[in-house]
Amino acid sequence: MEEALTPFYEVNEALVAMGAEKLNLCMQCGMCAGSCPWRVVDGPFNIRRLIRMAQLGVEGYESDDILYGCTTCNKCVLKCPRGVTIIDVVKAMRAMIAETGAIPGVLKTATGSVHSNGNPWSEPSEKRTAWMEGLDVPTFDESKEYFLFVCCTSAYDARSQKIAKAMVKVLNAAGISFGVIGEEERCCAESMRKIGDEELFMNTAQKNIDLYKDKGVKKIITTSPHCYYTFTQEYPELGGEFEVVHYTQLLAGLLEEGKLKLSGTLDKKVTYHDPCYLGRHSEVYDEPRALINAVTGDNLVEMKNIRKDSLCCGAGGGRLWMETKPEWRFSDVRIHEACDTGASILATACPYCISMLEDSRKTTNKENEIEIKDISELIAEAL
Ligand code: SF4
Repeated sequence: MEEALTPFYEVNEALVAMGAEKLNLCMQCGMCAGSCPWRVVDGPFNIRRLIRMAQLGVEGYESDDILYGCTTCNKCVLKCPRGVTIIDVVKAMRAMIAETGAIPGVLKTATGSVHSNGNPWSEPSEKRTAWMEGLDVPTFDESKEYFLFVCCTSAYDARSQKIAKAMVKVLNAAGISFGVIGEEERCCAESMRKIGDEELFMNTAQKNIDLYKDKGVKKIITTSPHCYYTFTQEYPELGGEFEVVHYTQLLAGLLEEGKLKLSGTLDKKVTYHDPCYLGRHSEVYDEPRALINAVTGDNLVEMKNIRKDSLCCGAGGGRLWMETKPEWRFSDVRIHEACDTGASILATACPYCISMLEDSRKTTNKENEIEIKDISELIAEAL
C-alpha cells in the first residue's frame, strides 16, 4: 500500500477516540521493540515504529506484516515505562483500516465466517458438535454447575478436538456437574476485536451474553485462554458477569482437594509453554505447572523464556490465520527451546499454541524428538 500523509492531528485524534488513549504518552524509547518476539526472528515488524506512525497519522502500510504483525502478546505493554497501552493503539489502528474494508483477505475470511457461521473456520454451525461423536456429553441446563465452553478451534480443528474430548473425560472422572450448549454456541470473538472488527466483536459478545443468561449460565469453564481473557476482562463491561475459570485453574484446585485422582505418573520429562493469554494477560502461571508436576512426579523442566518472559507462539491478534514466512515463525524458535531442555513432551494449555507448535514440530523436523500435548490430554491419560 502507498503511504499517504494527512493532517496528523486528524488521524491522531481519531485513533485516541477509538481507544488509543495513551498513544501520545509514547516517548519513542524503544523498550517495546526490544522486548518484542519479532526481534528474536529479525522480522520486519517494529512496534516502536508503528506507534510513531500512529502519532504522525500515517495511514498507509507497506505490507500486512507491519500493521498486522503484532500478535498482541502483551510483552511490550509490561515493559513500557510510560504506561502506553500498546495493544489498544494497535487495535485502534486496525479498527480504522477495518472501517475502510481494507483488512487482509485471509482475515476477512475469518471475520466473515464468524459473522455468517459463528466461527472463524468457515464451518457450518451444525458441525459445532461433531467433536462429541461417540462421547456422552451432557447438555447444559440450570441444574448443571458449569457451562463448558469449547472454543471454535477445539470444536472444529481435528487436532484440537482431542482437547475437548480430554476435557469431557477429566470432568466426568472428577464428578463435575457440567454441560455444553451445542450448535447455538458461537465464537467468543476475542481475536475478531484484535483484528480490528469492533462491530463484529460487540455484536457477537452481546449475542453470547444473551444466550448464556437465557440458558441460566453462572459459571463457565474455558479450554482456551483467549476465551478466558475476553470473558473475564471484556464481557463484564457489556453486562456479561459470569464466574469464569480456565480449565487449568479448575483442575489444579480439584487436584489439591483430592477430587481429581491420577492413577500413576508419566515417566517422561515435560516442559511447559506459557500461552500469552493465560500467562502475561491473565497471570495464570502456577496452576498449569502444578498439574504437570502431578502428572510427571515433579518432572517438569523449564525452558529459558518462561512465565512473563515466555516466547509467544505467534498465533494471537489474528496471526493464526495469516501466512508467516518460515524464518519468521516464533513457534519454530519455541520448539528449539523446548528440545534444548531434553524434554520429550512440550505441554501447553491453549488450542492456538497447540496448532502453531504442532506445525513447527513438523517443519523443524523434530517429530521424533518431541511431542506436543495440551495439559488436558496429559491429565486424561493419567486418570
Ligand atoms: Fe513508546 Fe512505550 Fe514503546 Fe517506549 S516502550 S517506544 S514509550 S510505546
